[in-house]
Amino acid sequence: MTAIVKPKALENHKVRDFRMLIDGAWVETDGGGTLERVAPGHGVTVSRYQAGTRQDAERAIAAARRSFDDGFWPRMTGAERSNILLKAADLIAARAEELAFLDAIESGKPISQAKGELGGAVDIWRYAAALARDLHGESYNTLGDGTLGVVLREAIGVVSIITPWNFPFLIVSQKLPFALAAGCTTVVKPSELTSGSTLVLGEILQEAGVPAGVVNIITGTGPEVGAPMTTHPDVDMVSFTGSTGVGRLTMANAAQTLKKVSLELGGKNPQIVFPDANLDDFIDAAVFGAYFNAGECCNAGSRLILHRDIADEVTGRIAELSGKVRVGDPLDPTTQVGAIITPQHLEKIAGYVSGAQQAGAGVALGGEPLDLGLGQFMAPTILSGVKPDMAVAREEVFGPVLSVLTFETTEEAIRIANATDYGLSAGVWSRDFDSCLTIGRRVRAGTVWMNTFMDGASELPFGGYRQSGLGRELGRHAVEDYTETKTLNMHIGARTNWWMPR
Ligand code: NAD
Repeated sequence: MTAIVKPKALENHKVRDFRMLIDGAWVETDGGGTLERVAPGHGVTVSRYQAGTRQDAERAIAAARRSFDDGFWPRMTGAERSNILLKAADLIAARAEELAFLDAIESGKPISQAKGELGGAVDIWRYAAALARDLHGESYNTLGDGTLGVVLREAIGVVSIITPWNFPFLIVSQKLPFALAAGCTTVVKPSELTSGSTLVLGEILQEAGVPAGVVNIITGTGPEVGAPMTTHPDVDMVSFTGSTGVGRLTMANAAQTLKKVSLELGGKNPQIVFPDANLDDFIDAAVFGAYFNAGECCNAGSRLILHRDIADEVTGRIAELSGKVRVGDPLDPTTQVGAIITPQHLEKIAGYVSGAQQAGAGVALGGEPLDLGLGQFMAPTILSGVKPDMAVAREEVFGPVLSVLTFETTEEAIRIANATDYGLSAGVWSRDFDSCLTIGRRVRAGTVWMNTFMDGASELPFGGYRQSGLGRELGRHAVEDYTETKTLNMHIGARTNWWMPR
């Protein structure tokens, strides 16, 4: 049984029409028409974005290039940039309700969760603002008399920022304030499914005092406007979050002109549970890890690797608690799991479940899409008896589907945990320090949670090993990612190390 919150038809519903921000002006596309966004939880059009073209992307890149080469943003002091970012943070906080509503309605995520993400985003903008004042290099006065070495951190230039649909405002906030703190100028492309909140961010940044051309926001499909943002010679860096497949393409495109790339990609994150764990804590975290954001989450704890001795008991308790998770209307404040992003994606999720059943897995809970009258929804699902070589254990399902695997020895648990191409995050549950630390060191993942899951903070770097990505976001080095290192090797007084004999 699933706890259902039936979606209500939208009252006083009005479609919101958006333009694009290029060089400080809100403009229509250069000939591409518009894209309609149908709300995944309500089945009606809620937003209309410009279907940008390659020419729009080129206009935006030219504006960012001019404002980097000739404008004053890169030349301002860190303190001046910091003050503008702080003002932006205050304005985001003031418009948090509107932004959360847009994210919830366009992505289908629960409104309470969207509000939480806005709180997190405000904190990140404030954190980046602090880092803007602390960007510094190094100096060496130990290189011999008459030599001083100074290592500078200079803004890398024009940055293309490309984001996915699952955390629309949060993910642009993990990139843009750090690029701005470093003094870069930017072209931003949100997902064509959830562009609304990023476009409102453009209004906020104008009001905060970000000069024209420093942040350009264009909308449209990946192949049409995203691809030129990864190939254009006037772009210096691409910061991409999305699927591993498009990440790979982005890196290949960027290689043509040797741009720096930062990639935050998919995950297939394991949680390893030993018999001595605090099982009450774990069971709550397992349900949260699997169903938060309807499992449409790079960090989803989609693989449980349970010690054989506790597997049946724990699976039963997780199934019982999962049945109480409230699924349905994204705008109902009690909803915990909202809608699935598109009908095509729902089909893909259901396909993984039926594929796993054909391969021998059992269904301990759910397993089917839910017909709630409006929108598209998937029942929280638990698959038992999953084997490490099944597709559902290795590939990113990106839906509310939890796979349960079992282990006997610590070595076996580590082997299963590492048996995917991904390496974004992992969890380990035990009261024994040795077990936690052994798993913490040997699992190949960018974050390992111990006796907790999916906690985050602006101070903690986030990113993946292997095909989960390249580079790290957040943390105190996040601004440095948007810089180049320049060495000034300075000689003082007459040159002493002559090359030619005298
Ligand atoms: P996606 O790769 O389909 O799209 C991401 C963005 O890339 C969108 O803006 C899209 O328009 C654009 N794009 C598509 N084709 C492009 C092209 N040829 N050139 C340039 N841009 C192009 O991903 P999605 O479906 O929007 O998001 C889900 C994926 O994102 C999942 O795999 C998830 O794991 C990943 N993700 C990762 C993280 C992380 O931090 N590691 C966070 C959130 C989401």
